[in-house]
This record gives sequence, C-alpha cells and structure tokens, in this order.
Amino acid sequence: MESNKQSDWVARSLSSVWHPCTQMQHHENLPLIPVSHGRGAWLYDQNGRRYLDAISSWWVNLFGHANPRINAALKDQLDKLEHAMLAGFTHEPVIELSEQLSARTDHVLGHCFYASDGASAVEIALKMSFHAWRNAGLTDKQEFVCLKGSYHGETIGALAVTDVALFRDAYGPLLRQAHVVASPDARAAQEGETAPDVARRAAQDLALLLEQRASHIAAVIIEPLVQCATGMAMHDPEYLRLVRALCDRHQVHVIFDEIAVGCGRSGTFFACEQAAVWPDFLCLSKGISGGYLPLSLVMTREAVFQAFYSTDVTRGFLHSHSYTGNPLACRAALATLAIFDEDDVVNRNRDRAARLTAALAPLATHPKVRHFRQRGMIWAFDAVVEDVSAAATFSRRFFAAALEQELLLRPIGRTVYLMPPYILDDAEIDGLAARTQTVFEQVIGALK
Ligand SMILES: *Cc1c(COP(=O)(O)O)cnc(C)c1O
Repeated sequence: MESNKQSDWVARSLSSVWHPCTQMQHHENLPLIPVSHGRGAWLYDQNGRRYLDAISSWWVNLFGHANPRINAALKDQLDKLEHAMLAGFTHEPVIELSEQLSARTDHVLGHCFYASDGASAVEIALKMSFHAWRNAGLTDKQEFVCLKGSYHGETIGALAVTDVALFRDAYGPLLRQAHVVASPDARAAQEGETAPDVARRAAQDLALLLEQRASHIAAVIIEPLVQCATGMAMHDPEYLRLVRALCDRHQVHVIFDEIAVGCGRSGTFFACEQAAVWPDFLCLSKGISGGYLPLSLVMTREAVFQAFYSTDVTRGFLHSHSYTGNPLACRAALATLAIFDEDDVVNRNRDRAARLTAALAPLATHPKVRHFRQRGMIWAFDAVVEDVSAAATFSRRFFAAALEQELLLRPIGRTVYLMPPYILDDAEIDGLAARTQTVFEQVIGALK
C-alpha cells in the first residue's frame, strides 16, 4: 500500500497540490518530476533518473543539495533552538548573521530587518522608505519608481513595482501603480552605442521624472546589474552610480533588490560592489540560506534607523512576520557565509565562469542565438524563434527536452539561461555546456 502510494506521487500531486507559476492544465503534457532526494548539483527522481540543477532550484541553491556543512550546522541548531519570537527576544544566529552581513557592507548598512521570503523583503523596504520620509515630515513622498521589465515579487505591494506583464496584468486593478522608467538593458544599444551609453540614456529618463516629481517619490527600486525574471537583462554598473547620484540630488531613497543577484551570483558578494555604491535599503533572500530555508532581510543605514528611533510607538517601524529571524534559517545562512570564506568562493567562481563561458562558445556564435551574455554565475541568450505560436511553447519544449538530457533548465520565454550552483566540477561544467547545446539544437531544429 505505502509503496503503491509512493509510485503515484505525480497523480496525487496534480490532484492536491496547486503548483506555483504553472498553468495546471499544461501538466496534461508537461512532465512533473517526483524528486526523491538531492546530492550536490543533482536532483534524483523516484524512477532513479537524475537532473543537473542548472538553475539552482529557482536561484536559491548555492552549494548543492544535502551540503554536508550546512546539514551539520542545522543539526546542531535543531538541538539548541528551532525558533523563538524576535520581538522582545533575540538569539545568537540572528545577531551573528546581522553582524557578518553588516561587516560585508563595511558597516554602511548596519541594521538588518528580517522576514521569510523575497516579496516580503521588498514590501518592508517600500514601507520603511515611506515611513522614514513621513517621520522626517515629508508626508508627500508616497510613490515609487521601478524599471521597465522589473521583477520584485508577487504580493500586492511587490507586484506594484513589478513590470512583467505575465505576472502583473491579471492583478492590475488591485495595484497602486508605480512610475516605470527606462531599463538600462544593454540589449537596447543602438548602432555605435556601448553598454555605458545605454546606462546613461536610461538614467536620463529617471532624471526627467525626478525633476518633475521627486517631492512625491519615496524610493527607486532596482535589481542591480541583472534584471533576472524579465529574462536576464544585463546592464552596466555605471547605471547604479548614476541612479545613486540622481537620488542623492533629489532626496529619494535607493532600494537595491539583490534577492537574485546577491550572494555572489553576479560575480561579487553584493552586486552593487561592482559599481562601488551602496543603496539606502538592500534586500536579500534566495541564496542567503544556501537554498535551505525561507529567509529574507532588508539592510539599511544608520540615518534610516534613527528616523524611527523615538519614545513614540507609532514612529517605530510597524511590520512583523511570525517566523521573523528564524534561528534555523539564520544558522543555514551562517553556514552558507562560512563556505564563502572557507572556500574563497567569489574568486574560485571566476575560474568556473571562465570555463563555462568557453564551453558555451558554440552557442554564443550559433546563428539562431542573439545576445549571448554572462555576468558572474549567470549566463543567458535569446533564441531566434520567429513563429509566434512556436515562441509561446519554446520554453516548455525546452524544459521537457532538457529533462531528457538530465538537465533542469526552464527558459524564460525565448531566453535560455543557466544559473548553476557554485560547486560544479570541470566535468559537470563541460557536460552542462554540451547538453545545453544539444537541447537547443533539438528544440530549434524541431521548430522549423
Ligand atoms: C525571486 C525574487 C523576488 C521575490 O522573492 P520570493 O521569495 O519569491 O518572494 C524579489 N525580487 C527579485 C529580484 C527576485 O528574483
């Protein structure tokens, strides 16, 4: 009976589990993979098949599945403290994590506020920005600015600063619309323009808005260097410097949403290090717990913290989640940070990245590929798919064909991307590149 039930995970899941980001009807044809266990970069299914997790399970897993060091830390923490409320109480993992993260910003962002998922971190940054201005007497500052193609999560507040039509349009009537300004996406370069030129052109758009509207604007929110969910749109760090300068001039906060690009993903621990500017609020989630447990946080400056510091409770920041600062999640994050230091991860990723980029060279120059791009541990390219109906199913066809090649890859529309964990060995890197090429040629070939 038990084993019979086990073998039927797919049918049971489809009738009882409502899967995220999925048109459930598509599973009439699209495979659903019953994962039984994971090890290193690989996920194993009930039928004994394996898949290289080339997108880090939605960009969260940095050091592999069932990582021995993170597992050991969690087992130790389990016997000490699984959870305690963070109002009126504190504990070592949350203190240690806050101090270590603050040190990684040279203590510019010295205060950490916790939640459990990325969208909530975005909500916190938006609310905190608005409330900080209000406490300073600037009560008109109630509006936010996001970039074309931005993605900051799918709760109602976060969706209001998200500009991905697929996620936003159905819920448009529920949202308080933000100002959407030009994206510095380097693919928009015109004849003779460099990526920094595109950045300067996009910053002009923001400059115009701020000149007219800054007294009503609380903050600009940006995914630094790579706008991931819209399709890995990459831009030059110059954009971040220009935004920082414009926002300083116009008294507007800068929020860097590093939920996807932080934790080494973009090539430095924080993406904004590459521009040498710090925001007023920095959001982290996804990779921070190594992909183990839900954890998110917002880091902010002393000036913001002081704007709330008072005897008056209503001037305090009013926001809480039941699992705020969960000790297990914080301990997983500490184990993750320890691996960064012990293994010199950011530097060693440069070698991994160089090898994978070289191995992907045949795809970079493939006649059906446009805009092959890479930053840190993110690779992406756009497939040339002219037929509209083929374009609509490209992503799902690619996903299914990749599974046949032992790869977990889920293109975003026509954009194929790789975001592997930071543990691939040379054979895994070469295999990933070769198989990605095989899948691409198969899918593109079948479309003709
Ligand atoms: C994933 C993501 C979020 C939302 O995080 P969730 O944990 O899925 O709510 C927000 N911003 C960016 C840039 C993301 O990639």
